[in-house]
Amino acid sequence: MNKIEPISRRKMILDSSVRGSIIFLPIAIFSASVKAGSSNKAMLHYQEDPKDGQMCSGCAAFTPSAASDEGNGSCKIVGGPVKLRGWCIAFSPR
Ligand code: SF4
Repeated sequence: MNKIEPISRRKMILDSSVRGSIIFLPIAIFSASVKAGSSNKAMLHYQEDPKDGQMCSGCAAFTPSAASDEGNGSCKIVGGPVKLRGWCIAFSPR
């Protein structure tokens, strides 16, 4: 028969911490990159033309840039400059 060995409380806590880190670390890294507005344009199917009447200028994540840079702006979700008339799958109406 198998003999069950006692596990110390310290070992049990350390083991669960390591397992939790392995599970949650990738999620935390992905979340941080999304918050920083660095999501890949390709991943979100960004395009420089409107889709079904939806475009960046009507999206809650869009911030227009200075007047000298007409037609562009920044996005809280997609990294880099985005077009006023651009669109991606993360579109959220204002
Ligand atoms: S989330 Fe998509 S649609 Fe909205 S501003 Fe950013 S790139 Fe444009």
